[in-house]
Amino acid sequence: MSLLQLRDVSVTYRVASGEVPAVRGVSLDLAAGQALGVAGESGSGKSTLAMALLRLLPRDARVTGEILLDGEDVLTMKWGRLRAVRWASASVVFQGAQHALNPVRRIDEQIAEPLLVHGKATAAQARRRVAELLEQVGLPAWRGRNYPHELSGGQRQRVMIAMALACSPRLIIADEPTTALDVMIQAQVLTLIRSLIAEHGISMIMISHDLSVLASMCDRLAVMYAGQVVEHGPSREVFADARHPYSRALSAAFPTVGDPASRLSPRGLAGDPPDPMHLPSGCSFHPRCDVALPSCASRPIELWPAGEGRRAACVHVLPDPALPEDLPAGSGE
Ligand code: ATP
Ligand code: MG
Repeated sequence: MSLLQLRDVSVTYRVASGEVPAVRGVSLDLAAGQALGVAGESGSGKSTLAMALLRLLPRDARVTGEILLDGEDVLTMKWGRLRAVRWASASVVFQGAQHALNPVRRIDEQIAEPLLVHGKATAAQARRRVAELLEQVGLPAWRGRNYPHELSGGQRQRVMIAMALACSPRLIIADEPTTALDVMIQAQVLTLIRSLIAEHGISMIMISHDLSVLASMCDRLAVMYAGQVVEHGPSREVFADARHPYSRALSAAFPTVGDPASRLSPRGLAGDPPDPMHLPSGCSFHPRCDVALPSCASRPIELWPAGEGRRAACVHVLPDPALPEDLPAGSGE
């Protein structure tokens, strides 16, 4: 059975000038022990989706659909149950998380906190568990007595991973866990995450704008564009042989690690992502697409089967993509 099932999940932020549809109709499955990568440009809705999974969004966000964790809908869960599920069943390593550590408390106190808050350990047990967790993330036990400012960025991110592991969750949601780190440290932290999830059989959702990182870390990939999943499938196949023109652009021109400009737009892809409050009609990607047909501006688009275990929201995966209006005048007469 799937550990996590998303059914038609949408998230809308209410703002002064109207509503921002940040996530639109996302349906995905994650099997126990599997890692799913979510890719997409800045603003495509990746973090919004990740936060929705544990109801961590601000009050002005409205979430619809179903988010089933072990068959239980997170969206209708009572508050007490939700608190237990956070950390204990699933935990999050946030984007830029190393800045989330409390500057005036020692590392060991901060790692022990979820254990104590959730009543998982006595003070003595928590001390032993903290030493074990520090060792698992490759930090010597004495680092526990440090304050966050005494650690490097990479060491702080290791502490965040130790905190996420503390209550032995079944699912870790990692939102750009290495973006703020330099290239060498990124590789070390990614290797650490990969070995820890494999060793403990933890499922993972990892979010990144870098498809190459996700392809190396995850079993499956989902590519998001303007709040929608436009392609999903086994990661190596999606990376090497993308079926949606947007995923093709992402994988062909995957950003240079550490180049801030490359975060904004994949090289080789013209134009900007759409403003979510003024989405194009038909396929949201059609204004930037180099293989768009005239009908892509108006026809309904869905995630069509695109090979074994794969789906893509592009008419070109259909056996006969063209509609009569796409054919040159007079053809077929
Ligand atoms: P990045 O790669 O930059 O982290 P992302 O894919 O994680 O981007 P989100 O942060 O999920 O994107 O944002 C998706 C959309 O929702 C964007 O258009 C963003 O402006 C909008 N958005 C995010 N948070 C809020 C909020 N609190 N209120 C209103 N709109 C928001
Ligand atoms: Mg984000």
